[in-house]
Amino acid sequence: TVEQRFGIALLDPKAHKTFNELWSLARRYLLYVDTLLRDLNPAENRLEWFLRTFPIPQLVADNLRQEADIWARGGIGKYVLVIAYHFLRGPDFTDRPAEALPPETVIERLHRRVLEALRQVDTQAGRQAVVADLGLRQDLETYLAENLYLSLAPSGDLVEDGLGSYLAPKRKGHTGQVCSICNRRSEYVQPLRAGILDDFGRVFSNRVLPAREAPQANRLWCPVCQLEFILRKKMGMGLSSSAHYKNSRRIYLYVLPTFSFTPDHLRLFKPLLEPFRQVTNFPVRDYGRDWGLPHYWLERRTFDPDWVKELQSVLARQAEKIAGWGGQDFVGERTLLGRIVGQPHYYLITWEKTARESETDDARIATRTEAWAKALFASVIISGLTSCKVYVTERPYLPIADPAELKATITLDAPPPALRGVLGKRTDEVSLYGREQGRRSGLEQVLDLSSALWVVTTGLRPGKDKEISRRLSRLNVDPLAGAHFYKEYGRENDGQSPFRPFDVACEVLLEIQGGELMNLVEKIAQKSLEIALPLNPKGRGKARRYELVFREAISAMRKAQRMIPEMREAAIGGRRPSDQSIVELKQLAAGTLLKG
Ligand SMILES: [Zn+2]
Repeated sequence: TVEQRFGIALLDPKAHKTFNELWSLARRYLLYVDTLLRDLNPAENRLEWFLRTFPIPQLVADNLRQEADIWARGGIGKYVLVIAYHFLRGPDFTDRPAEALPPETVIERLHRRVLEALRQVDTQAGRQAVVADLGLRQDLETYLAENLYLSLAPSGDLVEDGLGSYLAPKRKGHTGQVCSICNRRSEYVQPLRAGILDDFGRVFSNRVLPAREAPQANRLWCPVCQLEFILRKKMGMGLSSSAHYKNSRRIYLYVLPTFSFTPDHLRLFKPLLEPFRQVTNFPVRDYGRDWGLPHYWLERRTFDPDWVKELQSVLARQAEKIAGWGGQDFVGERTLLGRIVGQPHYYLITWEKTARESETDDARIATRTEAWAKALFASVIISGLTSCKVYVTERPYLPIADPAELKATITLDAPPPALRGVLGKRTDEVSLYGREQGRRSGLEQVLDLSSALWVVTTGLRPGKDKEISRRLSRLNVDPLAGAHFYKEYGRENDGQSPFRPFDVACEVLLEIQGGELMNLVEKIAQKSLEIALPLNPKGRGKARRYELVFREAISAMRKAQRMIPEMREAAIGGRRPSDQSIVELKQLAAGTLLKG
């Protein structure tokens, strides 16, 4: 019988459930080993390898050899069933039977035996076959021929034309030979591997026909891009192993020199960028005596040596904390620097907020606005620290070739529109200009506004980081947002005045964003003070009187505007009303004020 020939005793499934489960587990494991062996060393006779590695009785081995063809039918090494049995009953378990041990221990012993044996296997041929299959070598050669110019042989190879692929009619699935990441054409494009890219592979694509369902397979990438991301993973720039791209957001900060980084630069930057070599972050809120960066900035608001010292100590403090939480494996908000070899063309600093796949606490999953607001904050600080240009993008590669193309100090690649309140008129860059007009520089202003908004966001309720979008949308429509936040704080805290730096934050917002409206408020306040009777030498209660008069005047103007038909029409049509009706409005408003 089969049992005799292979030395197997089939046991009653009920009475020997534990053993049968172990057997099935070991069989599954060995099936993986079988395919691994097939791929790594195609020349190897796998059955012989198993017979060498595991203690199989001579008779059983001979019988297996005779029927090798039958057992290996369909390409799968079903003979591992017999091997697994003899492993479990073999010398590995002479001290105690396999059933008496926890399954982990059993598989661990199996794993150690396999590892030991695999070390002897020559995997060179197999690995080369895999690499050849990926097209790494061929595609790298094409890539170098296209992009490498030697001054001694000044001729270039034209890129093979990708037009054919672009013009090919779209289908439901991904076809053609264009890489979805770098847009190069390559013969060796393959569906990308999401675990290596650390991002979704099945996202919106305009390279396929529109359909209800996204294409079943991942979009394509070329070997050069795949190699790039394999190398990034190897350098510790991938997500930490327990984080999942589904719940994580990453923004890349490319720090570029004006011309190139000289060895002097490198010496200068080494201590400055040291905390980023470990993993650190930019804390936006205070934890007890550990201030966040917005608090430090609002205390003096200048890029001076003290600021650099404070910044360094905060970054070092955070790096130390994160090291205690797992360092490279830390899942959460983190900022890190890619490894630098030699003289780089740019530094790549990654801002990311990572989360596990099973994360349910929404505060731990960044929204896009939150991510950008924080990355912007980080980029302004880094730009101030290094005096370099910074390019901020969600794309994992740098979409420009020449740093000279970047005119502004910080260039943002498609930031969310919600940030316009912070960025001002130019919505995708931050410049150094402003000082020449007697104002603060663009960089300082953005840092002022960002810091103020973070202080306000963490000081009001609800105070989660993602609520920054709520404060941004107020700032975007209301030049007096600072006053609004100040009042909101009072409402939430039984009329108490805000603590420091909350009050500074509100003041900064008013100073920068208040503009004409702020001037108007000040003028009205001044006038009302002049006409207020009786004059109070101490000036107590002034603020309240200004505010009363201001409110009264505004509501009087509103009422009066409704009473003049021409005004109403002009307001609807967006026209400027006639001078006569303006005079009429002023009279009506002044009348109401005087009566009050
Ligand atoms: Zn590519």
